[in-house]
Amino acid sequence: MSFPIERPRRLRRSEAIRGLVRETRLTTAGLIYPMFVCPGKGVRTEVSSMPGCYQQSVDKFIEECREIEQLGLPGVILFGLPEKKDAVGSEASSPLGVVQRAIEAVRKTNLKLLVITDVCLCEYTDHGHCGVIEDGRVLNDPTLEILADAALSHARAGADIVAPSDMMDGRVGAIRSRLDENGFSEVAILAYAAKYCSGFYGPFREAAQSAPQFGDRRSYQMDPANAREALREVALDIEEGADIVMVKPALPYLDVIRMVRDNYAVPVAAYNVSGEYAMVKAAARNGWIDEQRVVTEILTGIQRAGASIILTYHAKDMSRWLKA
Ligand SMILES: [Zn+2]
Repeated sequence: MSFPIERPRRLRRSEAIRGLVRETRLTTAGLIYPMFVCPGKGVRTEVSSMPGCYQQSVDKFIEECREIEQLGLPGVILFGLPEKKDAVGSEASSPLGVVQRAIEAVRKTNLKLLVITDVCLCEYTDHGHCGVIEDGRVLNDPTLEILADAALSHARAGADIVAPSDMMDGRVGAIRSRLDENGFSEVAILAYAAKYCSGFYGPFREAAQSAPQFGDRRSYQMDPANAREALREVALDIEEGADIVMVKPALPYLDVIRMVRDNYAVPVAAYNVSGEYAMVKAAARNGWIDEQRVVTEILTGIQRAGASIILTYHAKDMSRWLKA
């Protein structure tokens, strides 16, 4: 059967018909909003390359959390800017650290938001790498202990989900056993399973003050040219206990998201990263694109590729547009 019997345009005639046959339905239920917490009181500083995103002290952060909950978003992921940095990122696991205090504040205010915490050392180390350094190399195994300590401190503070983003081998297993040994078997792990060494992280490094002071992250983050390797990383993380696996960034890796989705039964997340956000914001400010239309298309595309959870700086705007 073909034309004139087959006429695909019949199903595009009106918004009602288009809505009826729509394959991907974007909702706020799958969107997570990333946030940056810093020391101090009354601090709210906009990140210049990420309009609408702020470095905030815990009090201001809580105000925004209320707004996020009212918008119907299910949760946030937290990144911390420590008071001081050192070679081993000691403050990452301090019970008095900014992230730990931010989690406790959410719990005390009875917000129902899911609290996800990024577990990594790059924001906390003076050299800006995601692990401990010896002779200019990032060491794998000694880093695992420190990551497990950090994850445990987040769980103690009340985190629902911890999200290791360092790309050290074996970190999901190390974190899982540390949590279980300490009575936190219900805290889930969202693994940044396939995290690529990407130029799209640029604005984030301003926001989290986490740029490496020497070299780059190619010895631990993945080569952008590889897709099959992502399946291997995902398989290992699931074997070690990951409950959700994530691909990061999202847009240049839609094929990887699809492969992961087709090959594994765990929920798949994608991180629509700072550089992807910054490009949209910059173009929209210049009047070159229609922001709402482009963001809707981007997030729909990421979901269509197979991600049911999307971490995105557009989450607040998108939830407003979905309500309208
Ligand atoms: Zn890191």
